[in-house]
Amino acid sequence: MTFVSSGYDPEKPMENRITDIGPKKYDEFYPPVIAKNKGKWLYHEILEPGVLVHVSETGDEVYTVRVGGARLMSVSLIREICDIADKHCDGYVRWTTRNNIEFMIDSKDKVKPLIDDLESRKFDGGSYKFPVGGTGAGITNIVHTQGWLHCHTPATDASGPVKATMDVLFEDFKDMRMPSQLRVSLACCLNMCGAVHCSDIAMLGYHRKPPMVDHEYLDKMCEIPLAIAACPTAAIKPKKVEVGGKTLNSVEVNNSRCMYCGNCYTMCPCLPLMDKEGDGVVLMVGGKVSNSRTAPKFSKVAVAFLPNTAPRWPETTDAIKKIVEVYASDARKYERLGEWAERIGWERFFEKCELEFTHHLIDDFRDPAYYTWRQTTNFKF
Ligand code: SF4
Ligand code: SF4
Repeated sequence: MTFVSSGYDPEKPMENRITDIGPKKYDEFYPPVIAKNKGKWLYHEILEPGVLVHVSETGDEVYTVRVGGARLMSVSLIREICDIADKHCDGYVRWTTRNNIEFMIDSKDKVKPLIDDLESRKFDGGSYKFPVGGTGAGITNIVHTQGWLHCHTPATDASGPVKATMDVLFEDFKDMRMPSQLRVSLACCLNMCGAVHCSDIAMLGYHRKPPMVDHEYLDKMCEIPLAIAACPTAAIKPKKVEVGGKTLNSVEVNNSRCMYCGNCYTMCPCLPLMDKEGDGVVLMVGGKVSNSRTAPKFSKVAVAFLPNTAPRWPETTDAIKKIVEVYASDARKYERLGEWAERIGWERFFEKCELEFTHHLIDDFRDPAYYTWRQTTNFKF
């Protein structure tokens, strides 16, 4: 940020301010009907899956058509989205935090032509480019992290299992038969830049083996003090090793202290911990952000480990589909998955979903187990 040479006036902090850093102010991009009715909206309704109407006290209406998008999109797909926005919405379009694309229009008669256009666009393989849905009591779009494509510590892929899962759940993206919203997410390691701690169903990539140490190159590529300092459990210490008749500076990992977080690999590429058998997927359930009815909840581990069976992850998608179907048939209207599990009891949740309860699912003494699993004499597993 820079200020013009005339000087900065604290009484008028915005005057003469010039900046080219960061995005422009969001309200420059409001569709006119939204700018005009700011602060005047009375209510909104979901007219059908993927279609919302917001009604203003001025009588104005905004119709929103939501379509599922992907986290990683090609330039050609984004150009096509812009063309659709130009054709139907005067060039206005927005993305949601769950990677949906929302097209907003100001009258009801524009809704059907827009939906027909969106649903008619297909990929060469026949699948929808712009599936309408993801609202209300259905499966909302799955959010995920970078996966094998971009990040350095993933224990599973992101786009791959999410695509496989959404293929299994797709009917419920376009429908609203669930008791309530069902949010699915994926984070490909426990550093968790996805929202898996607060989603109804979450896939979490999990390492089960400590890092390997590449002694030969470690001192050449890494700052040893940084690698040591990166470890949250103090499992790494310096060590001199003999390699090819030379004494080299390196590190030693105390495997019994390691919690497989991968922080050291972030600091030092000579401490990789990816492993074909060691890496896989943990399923977590019952989290939510909403304040409705009950307080926000953290999700809990329901399946401690599933293998990385690329490209379709059938063990993971089968388990998720089972949980979704049992929830859909057993929960009360408006009940989120975690609320349902707490009402019927976690023991019954495991029975109904045919999931095995193992000792891996009980928090250890260092975690806040009192806030997650029940620790009373009623704990019946
Ligand atoms: Fe990287 Fe972990 Fe985020 Fe995945 S969840 S993108 S591995 S930091
Ligand atoms: Fe420490 Fe995590 Fe590396 Fe294990 S993986 S040695 S806990 S930083």
